[in-house]
Amino acid sequence: MAGDMVVVRREGLYCVPGDFYIDPWRPVDRAVITHGHGDHARVGHGHYLAAEGGVGILKSRLGDIAVQGLQYGETVEHNGVRISLHPAGHVLGSSQVRMECGGEVWVASGDYKVEGDATCAPFEPVRCHTFITESTFGLPIYRWEPQQQIFDDINAWWRRNAEQGRASLMLCYAFGKAQRILSGLDPSIGPIVCHGAVEPLNRVYREAGVPLPETRMVSEVDKADLKRAIVIAPPSAGGSPWVRRFGDFSDAFASGWMLLRGARRRRGVDRGFVLSDHADWPGLMSAIKATGAERVVVTHGSIPIMVRWLCQNGYDAKGFDTEYGDDEAEDAAAAGPAADGVKAQPVVPPDPHPDAKRWAVPEKAEAARAAGTADRSTADGEEDADA
Ligand SMILES: [Zn+2]
Ligand SMILES: [Zn+2]
Repeated sequence: MAGDMVVVRREGLYCVPGDFYIDPWRPVDRAVITHGHGDHARVGHGHYLAAEGGVGILKSRLGDIAVQGLQYGETVEHNGVRISLHPAGHVLGSSQVRMECGGEVWVASGDYKVEGDATCAPFEPVRCHTFITESTFGLPIYRWEPQQQIFDDINAWWRRNAEQGRASLMLCYAFGKAQRILSGLDPSIGPIVCHGAVEPLNRVYREAGVPLPETRMVSEVDKADLKRAIVIAPPSAGGSPWVRRFGDFSDAFASGWMLLRGARRRRGVDRGFVLSDHADWPGLMSAIKATGAERVVVTHGSIPIMVRWLCQNGYDAKGFDTEYGDDEAEDAAAAGPAADGVKAQPVVPPDPHPDAKRWAVPEKAEAARAAGTADRSTADGEEDADA
């Protein structure tokens, strides 16, 4: 096709023939959202399209938005672009966006990881001509241990603290990382306490059918029992007045960045656990290969290094400058009144569109087809069933 199907505009990644945006950072009419992290899902768009499994998260974080949920693999057509969402393995409801137009297929990855975990659908490679990949940990030094080993280390740290009569404070991002850690905890060690910024997200995960161990608010646990507890809290809670109630405690931080000794030191915690919801270097490379793409566009992270490496290895690669941040470092939830679960109200967007039209507009698709701009591919997208 002439020109790129997806380009960067002031508002965000823009699908040119489809006239919609992917994870836009400025308000637009139509936004396809890959997942609910703050840098990808923002308030103020007219229409949202997201994976069904992520709709609860989006509503809990963005309030009353006009969001249409799509099952993984289900297709809608918009301005002649066939859109489907496929698991990204990053957090609950995270997806890659597949766009097909005139026989050309682009996939935008959002954020992804290739190792499976109990809290979301596993990453699914999707064949495409052009793959837009994230590169949060796009350097060869980033290699993760199997997650069970990290869970074992966390449980061992917790057990040792509990035996010594000390609470274990685990600081981690409230959406995604917290639930993944919960899924790996051994509840026989002691009570599991969650900060008020974490508990509402646990609720959404449970409602989506993800099994998590029993969690309690700090007010529901006897002071004596707190000494055996693990406390899951967002990074902003570390060093806040909220943690003083735990008296003597050991603290830890879980993030891919903990691989770097400097990052651990800057956090000033007792322990760093290297656990990321992003692909490591081998994961990025295997994911790119599995798409069969010849062209790769690299977004947020180590763009220049990864682009150079991909070009040296036979790919047609370039970078896109985006405003996606780093959810490993992000800490949207302030440790304010929400810490104990009070007033944890979702943010209400400035201009909700409850009656907004849905995405799959048949008349428009028909019109596009008649005008010859619609999808001209052969077998109704059957070939996209994963590789
Ligand atoms: Zn993310
Ligand atoms: Zn991201």
